[in-house]
Amino acid sequence: MSDEPIPAGTTLLLRAGRALTPGADWHDPPQVDIAVAGDRIAGICPAYRLEGDRSLEVIDARNHLVLPGFVNAHYHSHDILAKGTLEEVPLESWRLYALPPQYPPRSVEEVYARTLLGALECLRSGMTTIQDMLTLYPYEERHMAAVMKAYQEVGIRVVFALQYADRKGIETVPFWKDTFPSELHPLLSTAAEPERQLDLIGHFETTRLKPEPPARVSWALGPSAPERCSPALMQRTIELARRYDIPVYTHIYESRGMALQARLTLPEYSGLLIRRLAAEGVLDPRLNLAHSVWLSREEIDLLAEHGTGVVLNPQGNLKMKCGIAPIRTLQDAGVRIGLGCDNCSCSDAQNMFMAMKLFTLLAAVSDPIPGPPQAVAALRAATEAGAEGARLGDTLGRIAPGFKADLTLIDTRDPTFSPMNSAARALVHIEAGRGVRHVIVDGKVVVRDRQLETVDETTIYQAVEAVMPQFRRDFATISQRVAKLQPWLDRAHHRIMTAELDIERLPFGSSQRRGASA
Ligand SMILES: [Zn+2]
Repeated sequence: MSDEPIPAGTTLLLRAGRALTPGADWHDPPQVDIAVAGDRIAGICPAYRLEGDRSLEVIDARNHLVLPGFVNAHYHSHDILAKGTLEEVPLESWRLYALPPQYPPRSVEEVYARTLLGALECLRSGMTTIQDMLTLYPYEERHMAAVMKAYQEVGIRVVFALQYADRKGIETVPFWKDTFPSELHPLLSTAAEPERQLDLIGHFETTRLKPEPPARVSWALGPSAPERCSPALMQRTIELARRYDIPVYTHIYESRGMALQARLTLPEYSGLLIRRLAAEGVLDPRLNLAHSVWLSREEIDLLAEHGTGVVLNPQGNLKMKCGIAPIRTLQDAGVRIGLGCDNCSCSDAQNMFMAMKLFTLLAAVSDPIPGPPQAVAALRAATEAGAEGARLGDTLGRIAPGFKADLTLIDTRDPTFSPMNSAARALVHIEAGRGVRHVIVDGKVVVRDRQLETVDETTIYQAVEAVMPQFRRDFATISQRVAKLQPWLDRAHHRIMTAELDIERLPFGSSQRRGASA
């Protein structure tokens, strides 16, 4: 049956896929035709109703689920090449591997190759938008140009922030200063150290914010973490974000050590970092707090009150012994929850299916009382909540007319989906990425039949192989340096894990501060 005129300007028709549209039952989504005109979704109607002429590109989406493209709301392209290098490492020790200043400056070829590879992995696992919180240290314009070139060539959408700070790493970790002999202190600096660093935020404002960003790129700001940034820098950040209405991403309470640091250094705010941010006027809907594992109930309420969102990264949080975010409490308070896959050296995989599955499983162990079903919540976190956090919620993250045509098609002719008792639960609990077949960004088919269309994948793998010998040499040098620090790292970690703290974050950990009432 073909009885509706196709919307004017239609360039691509997805025929008869089962689409996760906003009002549909995501356990049993309906078959629809989706018309795409240029970069936008032009119309959606029941399957086989749209009549297209022969010149139109048609994708047969029968036996496919059509999803809004995933938004990877926390990602760092700088350590893509370090995937699979580390196993269980506490966060504070891990930071010494993840791009410390002791790395020699990277070549343009390496920066370009790693950016391409990361974008390829993200697209092939169904992500259409990534929030790249990139450390370029020291900042060089040629590196920035290589990153932008790679993103333009691949065709993924990017919410891009440079990471910056103005406090030294050693000052921001509990017990480091008095555990390590002073001659070792210079080895404890981590990325985004202030010296050798340009005034990135000023540079960014003058060079980037005024002209239009490149296609599919939107700008964001990336203060590394509040304890690594002075109040003045945090305030400057939020003022700029408000002036240009752009999002801000930062790291909050990832580890027990970060919570302890707040308790030890912020007596004027009862040791609560979110109270500090509230007092500084930084809490805002534009602000996204990556991790947020060690939030207290009072702090969660403050986030809800100000519309500030969190971005959970369960893979890295587990590998780095950080703990389990209070997912159910965040949900009950109405805090926006996005999902990310974080660094490759701590999460290894840029895979939203893994992140969604862990989200649902950790929600279950974050509260001893059985809670609501979580599969649809995980899908919403991986799509629309990430888009909203990026200030793009009115154009991204949903399959609806007028929204950007950023779509992922999952092939359901696979044991994963047989029988399909629930599309949402199959996607979250069973699918691991094998089904991602076509990915559309800005109305263009960027992945077709599981292959990148825009750049020859073989050339990306070759470009990576070409830079790996140097990367491996440098990573080995850094690893040897960390190994020398290991006895003191272990001692400091033991002190962090055994110092008294008023909340805990193990399975069934309470989000209450000790002594506080529910
Ligand atoms: Zn991160």
